[in-house]
Parts: sequence; structure tokens; C-alpha cells
Amino acid sequence: MSLPTSVPNELFVDGVWGPGSDGSFEVLNPSDGSVITSVPRAGLDDLDRALAAAAAAGPGWAGAAPRDRAEVLRTTFDLMVSRKEEIAYLMSLEMGKSLTDALGEVAYAAEFFRWFSEEAVRVDGALRTAPSGANRILTFKKPVGVALLLTPWNFPAAMATRKLAPALAAGCTVVLKPAEDTPLTSLLLASLLREAGTPDGVVNVLTTDVPGPLVQAALADERVRKLSFTGSTGVGRVLLKQAADRIVNASMELGGNDPFIVLDDADLDAAVEGAMLAKMRNGGQACTAANRFLVQESVVEEFAAKLAAKMGALRVGAGTDRDTELGPMVSARAVTGIAEKVDRSVAAGARAVLGGSTPDGPGFFYPATVLVDVPRDSAVAVEEVFGPVAPIISVRDEDDALAIANASEMGLTGYVYSGDLARGLRVCERLEVGMIGLNRGLVSDPAAPFGGVKQSGLGREGGYEGIEEYLETTYVATSW
Ligand code: NAD
Repeated sequence: MSLPTSVPNELFVDGVWGPGSDGSFEVLNPSDGSVITSVPRAGLDDLDRALAAAAAAGPGWAGAAPRDRAEVLRTTFDLMVSRKEEIAYLMSLEMGKSLTDALGEVAYAAEFFRWFSEEAVRVDGALRTAPSGANRILTFKKPVGVALLLTPWNFPAAMATRKLAPALAAGCTVVLKPAEDTPLTSLLLASLLREAGTPDGVVNVLTTDVPGPLVQAALADERVRKLSFTGSTGVGRVLLKQAADRIVNASMELGGNDPFIVLDDADLDAAVEGAMLAKMRNGGQACTAANRFLVQESVVEEFAAKLAAKMGALRVGAGTDRDTELGPMVSARAVTGIAEKVDRSVAAGARAVLGGSTPDGPGFFYPATVLVDVPRDSAVAVEEVFGPVAPIISVRDEDDALAIANASEMGLTGYVYSGDLARGLRVCERLEVGMIGLNRGLVSDPAAPFGGVKQSGLGREGGYEGIEEYLETTYVATSW
């Protein structure tokens, strides 16, 4: 599979494409392990150039008319839509997801530019009267400043646009550092933003496969005023500590251990359809992926049989093949991690009724796997699996389901299936998560606030809330 010629493979700094100061690294196609291309490994010199460019472009971009910023975002939306096939192909190539998943992601990712083009012109302040009546309280909002955006590999386009669009709408300039497994999609996005008229220095993209020193240096640099990170809770914890030294404003979208609760009055076919979306979209490599199925004991057998039948019927193949429904995992390391958690759980008493063992290469594949009789404290039940593995745990009633669901230190997404809306809502109110699908297997929506509670994150992306992460409030006390 070759790389479309329209995809840049250089750093993007101050509106110019160029090499990095620290060599380069290879980008692999997970469908067969072959090398797609190499991209630069940005060094500290490149970081300095990118921060200088972003800082210099800051006042101009912040001072631009909101309508002008909005138009750039709207044009980027149009460009993404018109080039959706090419962006989807690139994501399937470098990440391995099926073309269907990739096209869905392009639509979702592009929508952040449209949504935040609409929000850019609605950033408002307020005028209040002090309770004493002595003075007025006037508030207005300003962009935080240069934002460092760090993204994971699982949604190469959407995780970037979910940060780029609100940051740019708010008037921030940015340095984006994509994940080492999938740097190409971010470079292509930068070229679209440039084509849409983003001034030089407003968007900069640095690629590296050694992110630690670069990010640490960025967080120590006084020009960086904002960190927006999406990735694992472990790395998020490290970055929050680094951000603490300079009190850098931080937004965190972290890992999950998402429960999928099926109560005995649920429409089981609808629950299985929802489970296929919640579990198998992106090959299970989503922070919103259902990680453990908590199914009431009277329906657990039927649910497991139906889910295994659907998961077992998925066509496996290279991400870029038109009829693939389940592509490879992103890397050999990812496959090893999934297999290790499944093996530990099976040793602890879980039983695989589908899949459960790693196939031979080429490519980084792991099969659709359904585990039953899963011990409540086994690896697949308490750790984020991030693959096509559905562990099913039998629960007595809704209290039992909630006790297991809420025992996790994570709190990103939950799913609840019940035929009784009042019962379903009652469970939703008690679930300790940031987002819930009630009789629905998909929660992501650019117009909705996305984010987690507990150790799944801080802040929200998308919705009305998303732009606030890039704004600060100034207050003037006055009287007249
Ligand atoms: P990761 O934490 O390994 O990497 C995320 C980003 O951090 C990448 O850009 C990586 O290069 C960078 N990074 C890694 N180590 C670093 C370090 N020491 N210092 C600075 N930067 C570093 O996560 P991943 O494997 O790319 O993504 C999977 C994880 O992301 C899962 O836990 C998933 O749940 C989570 N995720 C969360 C959301 C959300 O919105 N909450 C969305 C997608 C993925």
C-alpha cells in the first residue's frame, strides 16, 4: 500500500514544511507490518522554533475577528468533507481501522470544525450587579495562549480536531504532537488548515517517537500556557505532575474501564446491536469501548450467545480492504498487551467461547473474543483491554451491576440497556461516569460534552463546554 502523494511527511512549523533536527522514524502499516514512510523526529531546536512561531502568531490570531477565525474553521470542515476518502484511506493505512470506521471518523472529526466555527462567534462575557448594589461586575473572555495538544493513535483525525477546532476558535495558537504510531493524519490535517487560510505560526505540528523529553521541555517553557492531552491515565498522571511546576492549565481525556449493563427487561437484540458498536467500533480500540459486560443472570446466556455469533461473523482483513469489518490492532505491542490480559483472565477461570488466541502474522491481528464466567477481579474486568475482547460477567440485579461498575477508579463512559426508561435513568443517575449511552451503543457527538470523571479525566471536549477549556475569564469591578 502506498502513501498518497498529497500527504506531507515533514514537520510543519511557522507555515513551512521541513526536516527535524533529531533524525527520523518509521511509520508502519499494521495490516502487514510494512514501512509506509518515515517522518522527522523533532528535537528541542524544532520545539523552540514551533513555540516561537506560535507565540509570535498569538496576538494576531487572538485579535482577528471571530468571524474570520470561524471562516477558516468552516473552510477546513469543507476541505475535510471533500477529501474524506483520502483521509479515511490514510487512517486505515497507518492505524489499521476498517475503511467504514475511518469514513465514520472523518465525518465525526470534520464536524468539530463546523461546530466550533459556529461557537467561535458566540464567546460572550456578562454584566452583573454586585449583591450590595455598590458596583457592577463585568466579565470578558480571552484565549489562554499557546496550547500544546497531545493526541493518541486510536482516532488520528478526531482526537486532533476535537482539540484544534476549539483552540483555534477561542483564539489560541497551537503546537500539535500526534502519537508516534499515527503521525501522518495530523500532518495532512495541518496541510488542510493551511489551505483553508490559517496564518503562519497558528498551527504547528511536531512528530516524534520519543515524546517524553520534548513534552517535558515544552511544559517547562513559559510560552506554553495550555496542555490538552488525550491518552492513557498513566501518561496523563506524569504530565499533570510536569504541568504543576508552572501551573499550566490542563485538560485531560484519559483511559476508561467502561461498563455495559444489560438488565433483564432489555430488548436483547437491541442490546447486542449496541454492544457491537460499543465494543467493536475501531476494533475495540476506543476509550469509550465497552470494557466489561455486566448482564443480569436470567439473560446472560442468551446475550453471550447472540454477541458471540455477531462478533464471530465479522470479516477480518487489512484496514484498507473495502470489505474488512475488523482490521488489525495498531501495533505488535498492542496485540501482546491484549493477549496477556486475556491469558491471565483465562488462567483465573474465564472461558473463551470465541477467539482468545493470537493468530500468526503477518500484521498485528487479534481475533474477536468473547469471555464468559469472568471473575470480577480478573485482568480483563479491572484493566482497560483496548481490543476486540468482550468479557461477560453475570450480575444479580441493578445494585450488583452498579457496585461492580462503580468499583473502578475510572469513570469515562457507561452503557445501560433496560426496557423501563425510569429504571434505566435511575441506573444512569447512580453510574459514576462522565457519559452514558442509555439504550444506545454510541455516545460521541461533537455537540455533546465529552469527558470523564474520577481518573478518566479533567474537563470536557466538544459541546458548549469544549471552547471554555481554551478561554480564561477576566473580571472588571466598576460602577457608574
Ligand atoms: P498514550 O498515553 O501512550 O499516548 C498518548 C500520547 O502521549 C501520544 O501522543 C504519546 O506520544 C504521548 N506520550 C506517551 N508517553 C509520553 C510521555 N512520557 N511524555 C509525554 N508524552 C507522552 O496513549 P495511547 O496508547 O496513544 O492511547 C490509548 C489511551 O488513550 C487509552 O488509555 C485510551 O482510553 C485513551 N484515550 C482516551 C480518550 C478520551 O477521550 N478520554 C480518547 C482516546 C483514547
